[in-house]
Amino acid sequence: MNEKGLTEQEIFTFLNKARKRDTTYKRVFSSMCTHPHEIAVTAHMQFIESNLGDFGLFPGTYDLENEVISMMGNLLHASSVHGYITTGGTESNIQALRAIRNASRISKPNVVVPESAHFSFDKITNILGIEIKKAALDNEFKVDMDSMRKLVDVNTIGLVSIAGSTEFGQIDPIDEISELAVEKDLFLHVDAAFGGFVIPFLEKKYPFDFSLEGVSTMALDPHKMGLGTIPSGGLLFRDIDLMHQLQTHTPYLTIDTQYSLTGTRSGAAVAAAYAVMKHLGKEGYRRIIKQCMTFTEELVNGAAEIGIGTLIEPIMNVVALDVPDADNVRKKLREEYKWEVSIIRKPRALRLVLMPHLTNENINEFLQDLKTVVHE
Ligand code: PLP
Repeated sequence: MNEKGLTEQEIFTFLNKARKRDTTYKRVFSSMCTHPHEIAVTAHMQFIESNLGDFGLFPGTYDLENEVISMMGNLLHASSVHGYITTGGTESNIQALRAIRNASRISKPNVVVPESAHFSFDKITNILGIEIKKAALDNEFKVDMDSMRKLVDVNTIGLVSIAGSTEFGQIDPIDEISELAVEKDLFLHVDAAFGGFVIPFLEKKYPFDFSLEGVSTMALDPHKMGLGTIPSGGLLFRDIDLMHQLQTHTPYLTIDTQYSLTGTRSGAAVAAAYAVMKHLGKEGYRRIIKQCMTFTEELVNGAAEIGIGTLIEPIMNVVALDVPDADNVRKKLREEYKWEVSIIRKPRALRLVLMPHLTNENINEFLQDLKTVVHE
């Protein structure tokens, strides 16, 4: 650390340089995050010092948090709901399974997750000592129910289903998984970190939320398609007793109890989520999702014109392009044309997420470059 402080001008010279090297998202098809909505940014700045780790000092922000949880519950058809704003999908997934583990009290617990689950579930074995059993996928990259059922044993404490998988944007047969959970008396966590702010606004309806009897907990992230600020994820519980499994006593704070994984916690991101959800309303999100689905259609149609198909018909704004030699195509797109796209692990394919930061011009330009690269 420097001995003497630098001037504001010197600091911002460094900051501006660093910022210039960061993405503006203009050519990014690989991210599930995007520019936060302007109103979210303004609200975030207004609450920049608010710490929900000690919410007795910030009762105003705490009320906003409860209102955000209640709005999320309404979106996901919960008659009553409990929860808190996490740092994102990873914390929500870890905390959901931690609550389930604590409630189950089995010495060698396991949880069955689809093979398509986000890598945050791989961290869980390490952190929580829960074995994660991976169920195979069917030919549409949804979890295969037979495989899931076969993996359930006496030590299984819960099931996980994905509503909007990271690689395919696919939705598992959550109604069937819910039935299995009820039949076997298991907890069911739905990871809708991405899909939670998409699925309710699609024209086609999918059963995926608390309207299904077996669903115990859900994750959905304002900092992805919710257009909130980073860090913000939502963790929702149908049953307060399950949430109480996360309770930690907090001596020397203004509150007695905490549920979160982190101690100090951003109130700013909560205010941001509140502002954007209230401002857009369901109508606003419906409009944004419609735009993203139009981008998706344009990309899929444009790719078909140059002889490239998709692994599945997109359910939401995530596309799996079936490109031969996908790793090499991605490398060229990145290095020569400065497009950020990502790769699906199995089978190797190009993965594109059509976020609100994109434009028709981006998509047309991308398709032209893709055509050049694949025909080289
Ligand atoms: N779950 C799903 C389905 C995701 O797509 C992601 C990230 O893309 C996560 C969880 C992890 O979210 P985060 O990066 O906010 O921790």
